[in-house]
Amino acid sequence: MHFLITGAAGFLGSALANRLVNENHTVRGLDDLSTGDPAALSSEVHFTRGDVNDRPKLWTLLQGVDCVYHLAARVLVPESLLYPREYNQVNVGGTVTLMEAMRDVGVRRVIFISSGAIYGERLDQPISETATPAPRSPYAVSKLAAEYYVRTIAALWGMESVCLRVFNAYGPGQHLPPVHAPVIPNFLRQASSNGTLVVHGSGLQTRDYIYVDDVVDAMRAAATAEAVDQAVINVGSGVETSVRDLVRLAMTVTGGQPEVVYNPRSDNGPSRMCADLGLAAKVLNFQPKTPLETGLRLTLEQDSRLQRK
Ligand code: NAD
Repeated sequence: MHFLITGAAGFLGSALANRLVNENHTVRGLDDLSTGDPAALSSEVHFTRGDVNDRPKLWTLLQGVDCVYHLAARVLVPESLLYPREYNQVNVGGTVTLMEAMRDVGVRRVIFISSGAIYGERLDQPISETATPAPRSPYAVSKLAAEYYVRTIAALWGMESVCLRVFNAYGPGQHLPPVHAPVIPNFLRQASSNGTLVVHGSGLQTRDYIYVDDVVDAMRAAATAEAVDQAVINVGSGVETSVRDLVRLAMTVTGGQPEVVYNPRSDNGPSRMCADLGLAAKVLNFQPKTPLETGLRLTLEQDSRLQRK
């Protein structure tokens, strides 16, 4: 098959692109390199630097493409509180631009990588796709708005669409900014160098952490699954882990003795997050394979930025 991946040089985009070229598919990748790194991509991926809001560039890249994976986005929840306009421009505006270009050129299927963040605070766990979304950040709003644009524009113009609501993905190569770093690479790096683990909130809040290879399995399956048009599907591990447990695991896999500091007054987001995977199992035949401790060990082994200096 012929694929276009937006956000191809990012953490999830590069893992997906590399998997697809290994399976002998033709892959074009687009990324503006605002955070992505093209060095993460196999030389078989046809990479173009560019903005997802650049319609003429999209027209060219979409020629002959069967299926588009749309991952280009700004992805940091705390940053989105500071710069909601930018999150709207890239995550919503970029999605609309891409959908318009796909309509113009004609593409069979689009797979949009959405987020479990759209659910917000839910008392009933695990969370099924039928739960009413209650986004708590501009990032989550932007992903939900983009889902609606993808499904609506695709339906209007006879394209198939699938939205995957990915929960907390982790693995080697995840973007590690100096501020607002995602919790897993941050904890592993701090623990291995006997630094400081800062736990926001009580640490009792839970998240559903899913290893990158498992996310790629689900993304891969969505390209060829039958009867998934207009589907919105959770992608997670189905396991709930508290941040306190994550602290313990980070110390176990690194062997480090970091200082653990609690910051109880900082906003810790929803109190619980766990994906109901019933639909993913049914329509994508999806089964996560990597337990958290194994995934943390793999991440540490394969990502030199996180190892003891
Ligand atoms: P990432 O930051 O590594 O990847 C995003 C990529 O998009 C980056 O390479 C960045 O350079 C690129 N990009 C940003 N703005 C762009 C623009 N205007 N034009 C072209 N490219 C642009 O993050 P990731 O974790 O790989 O996330 C990929 C996708 O998955 C995002 O859409 C994100 O919302 C979604 N997602 C990620 C997670 C997670 O836990 N990592 C969970 C749920 C959903």
